[in-house]
Amino acid sequence: MAVITQAASFTSPCGYCGQEGTGWNVQLVRDDKLFWETEMECHSCGLVVHDGDPGAAPERIRESLLLQHGSFRLRLAEPSGSGAKILKVFRDALGGSMAEAKEHSRKLADGEFEGTSVELRFLRDRFRKEGIDVLIEGGIAQPE
Ligand SMILES: [Zn+2]
Repeated sequence: MAVITQAASFTSPCGYCGQEGTGWNVQLVRDDKLFWETEMECHSCGLVVHDGDPGAAPERIRESLLLQHGSFRLRLAEPSGSGAKILKVFRDALGGSMAEAKEHSRKLADGEFEGTSVELRFLRDRFRKEGIDVLIEGGIAQPE
């Protein structure tokens, strides 16, 4: 299975020597799970900082991806009577409370659920497995 990934570059002062370092914030889907990673390398002292975890990315990483690649929207291909299934997909995919899943679900129905390309492609695959067709709109078109 192809790995879905998107990266945004950034520069930031090195935590060791204070010189400018460059790095990448990355979101990806691997083995049907969402991950985030960040890596920075200092060109002066060679310090490499790496971090990452499964699950939703920290806000600063999401923001850099949204800024460099655009925000995408997810909406239902057609009105769905599968409210319970939709809530389950959101909870399984993103974790969080039932109230959050309901809010996501309302936004999806209104075509207002926004996220990064990787997040929405991750969700789209989950919805399709449940037989719910969803569309991704906006941002920069990416090859499938
Ligand atoms: Zn350094």
